[in-house]
Amino acid sequence: MHFDVAIIGAGPGGSAAAMTAARAGLKVLLCEKGGYGRDKVCGDGLTPRAIGALQDLKVDFSPAHRIEGLRMIAGKKERELLWPSNTAFPNHGAVWPRQRFDQYLVDIAIAAGADVRFNSEALPAFDAGKVVGVEVGGEVIRASLVVLAAGAHTPSVIWKRL
Ligand SMILES: Cc1cc2nc3c(=O)[nH]c(=O)nc-3n(C[C@H](O)[C@H](O)[C@H](O)COP(=O)(O)OP(=O)(O)OC[C@H]3O[C@@H](n4cnc5c(N)ncnc54)[C@H](O)[C@@H]3O)c2cc1C
Repeated sequence: MHFDVAIIGAGPGGSAAAMTAARAGLKVLLCEKGGYGRDKVCGDGLTPRAIGALQDLKVDFSPAHRIEGLRMIAGKKERELLWPSNTAFPNHGAVWPRQRFDQYLVDIAIAAGADVRFNSEALPAFDAGKVVGVEVGGEVIRASLVVLAAGAHTPSVIWKRL
């Protein structure tokens, strides 16, 4: 089986890539080593820039809890700041627990037609020094393009292969 795009990692980066490519009519494989609904350690905050990115992706962010600014606490001092307006981004942010946020995005990627495989740890597959797809469970799945979206803790085994 050949895919146009194979993506390693179904966090926001991987799901955004998957939905964009699938909506463009490409045949997309998205491999996630965790299960459906896996959680991610995070502060769950979405800045106005992130809200802008979701708007660009035409993702409905109404399930998120909207926030108008930030409260900063240092010792006994507390400051509340509104998000800036008149910028390139919306004037609000949001809080969206990652388990729900990531699942929401991956559901959109699935609805757009991406073939999403959970509990599937993937590595880039090489042939003659070129990345030719991904290796999942000992099987090589070929793809014209491979996107590495495995997050900050990209396993060193991936870097060693590159
Ligand atoms: C404590 C903490 C608090 C944070 N708070 C915030 C915040 O409030 N706001 C904010 O914007 N950012 C915050 N961040 C940063 C934010 O979590 C990351 O920027 C974001 O998750 C990156 O998204 P991503 O899609 O690139 O990677 P990730 O969300 O890390 O997703 C990568 C995915 O790839 C999968 N994966 C990894 N290796 C493989 C493999 N070999 N095969 C298949 N799947 C694989 C993982 O299971 C994971 O699902 C915080 C980070 C931490 C650690």
